[in-house]
This record gives sequence, structure tokens and C-alpha cells, in this order.
Amino acid sequence: MSTPCPAAEQRRLLDDPQGIEAAWAGFKNGGVVTCPNTGAQLTLSVDGSPGTYRLVCGGCGFPSPWFNAGPAGITLRDGPSRSSKF
Ligand SMILES: [Zn+2]
Repeated sequence: MSTPCPAAEQRRLLDDPQGIEAAWAGFKNGGVVTCPNTGAQLTLSVDGSPGTYRLVCGGCGFPSPWFNAGPAGITLRDGPSRSSKF
């Protein structure tokens, strides 16, 4: 039985672009990225838009924000600057 991640704590970790970038780097290197709270493996969800992803915890199901992964690095799709989606 897994304890659900405290949403606020999980969000604080995955909301950080640096945290997402580190997780993304792990994926690109073929590594396993785990939930900071439950230790369950994070899986990658792909949006319809090219280069838009999010990470979802396989244990508690908590999703990271959608982010764009490009040559310039990681940007969060939904903020903080909503006017610059692309
Ligand atoms: Zn989790």
C-alpha cells in the first residue's frame, strides 16, 4: 500500500523548473526517475503539441505541470508567464 504524496510537497518539487529539468535529464539518459515522496517511478506523458510533456507518478498519480523541452531547456507551459506559450 502506498501513501499518497502530499500534494503540496509534491507540487513544490515538480513545479520547480530545475527539478523538472533534472528529471527530464534523467529520462534522456535512460535512467529511472522516481517520485520524491513515494519512490514510485515517474512516467512520461506526451501532449499533442510537439515537445510538450509532463511527468506522472506511477504510485500516487500526481502529475507535474506540462512543460516544453527544447534546445534552450525546460519551460513550464502554463506559467509563470502565460503570454509566452511559444
Ligand atoms: Zn508519488
